[in-house]
Amino acid sequence: MSVNNYEKMWQELGLDVNLHNEVLDYINKGFQNTVGKQKNRPKTMEYFDNVLHESHGGRIAELIEEKSKGKKIVGFFCIYVPEEVIMALDLVPIALCGGTNFSVPYAEKMLPRDICPLVKSTLGLAFSKTCPYAPIKSLAVGETTCDAKKKVWDILAQKVNFHIMELPQKKNAIDLHLWDNEIHSLAENLERLAERKLNPSVLKEKIEIMNNKRKALQRLAKLRIKEPIPISGLDTLVVMQAALNDEPVRFTKKVEELCDELEDRIKKGISPFSDKAKRIMVSGCPSVMGNWKIHSLIETSGGAVVVDETCTGVKYFKDLVDTKANDVDGLLGAIADRYLKINCSCFTPNNDRLDMARSLAKEGNVKGVVQYILQYCHTYNIEAIRIEGALKQDNIPSLKIVTDYSEEDTAQLRTRIEAFLETLK
Ligand code: SF4
Ligand code: SF4
Repeated sequence: MSVNNYEKMWQELGLDVNLHNEVLDYINKGFQNTVGKQKNRPKTMEYFDNVLHESHGGRIAELIEEKSKGKKIVGFFCIYVPEEVIMALDLVPIALCGGTNFSVPYAEKMLPRDICPLVKSTLGLAFSKTCPYAPIKSLAVGETTCDAKKKVWDILAQKVNFHIMELPQKKNAIDLHLWDNEIHSLAENLERLAERKLNPSVLKEKIEIMNNKRKALQRLAKLRIKEPIPISGLDTLVVMQAALNDEPVRFTKKVEELCDELEDRIKKGISPFSDKAKRIMVSGCPSVMGNWKIHSLIETSGGAVVVDETCTGVKYFKDLVDTKANDVDGLLGAIADRYLKINCSCFTPNNDRLDMARSLAKEGNVKGVVQYILQYCHTYNIEAIRIEGALKQDNIPSLKIVTDYSEEDTAQLRTRIEAFLETLK
């Protein structure tokens, strides 16, 4: 992340500029030691690297510019929040999840230590005045997924304009009805913020923008499983992290360009991996910007991540929103349908996720699955037992890794991952 010419902007946003420079330095080193060390990367990746580097600089400057034109910024923490509804009211959605270990101690000053690092990192950035998104947003949208998030929203809502969506934890008709109401209630709150009403043709247009983004990411998912594997899992993760930060039309165009380059690499037999690399699916918790730990460990231990059954993977783009309806009510209903299909581990029962994991593993022809669990994420951790059982039906072995954002356990994890990869046929 660049510090060029941005210090004045950060000062004006009220950030602790010195500490913020330390955060950027820390994240930069993490990036260079993982993503930056790879060889034979697609050329188009330069764009996505730059999205990450500019996430506290150029992107913030862009958002400030949008604000000066009257647009408001809406932050969110989970992929259940429908970005198209935010965009349809001329508001700008931005993901606020933290992937750096640097900010964790700042959250631990206030919150219990035994909650997930993603939550602590996100809150730590805000508490330590090193998150430039915190001061520019006009509204934050949380959801009732896991307990850590649910209770943290209560604390945040005392300080910032906050909207909480109640996510049902089952997927029956009554749950869809509740979720549909929640989508409508979010839409009403956003209408108040934007001081305008949703217009069906604008909503449809924004749904198309998001659907095109999803289609481009689906194309990428199909290409990354080809032989020879044309792109690393780490690079695909960088693309996914950029997806949650970048302007969607520009982003989609760049993903299509990347896909064109990958098709060419496949034709020419260009791959960042040797033929011996073991094809792996990562399943479980998301790896948000600043966190490249598990993909880097797998791919520097002889594996190639070809599928991500995570929210920084397939869950973000697998389903499109139906655009048949011509009125706001019908389109919001289609959005509710689409978003309830995301298979987060907070659902019970969650057989759809088990089926999805099996079919993704088969489609990707993976030799093994690494279940990536962030420490204290009880739902993914416990559900790992059922995922392991489901994969066993297809004779696909899995390894469960429970870890945080720190570097302390990397040597031990590497030993476990190497041993797991060696057992794969
Ligand atoms: S894992 Fe669950 S709570 Fe986390 S971003 Fe995904 S859907 Fe949201
Ligand atoms: S990784 Fe798990 S515990 Fe952490 S925020 Fe997501 S669902 Fe909650």
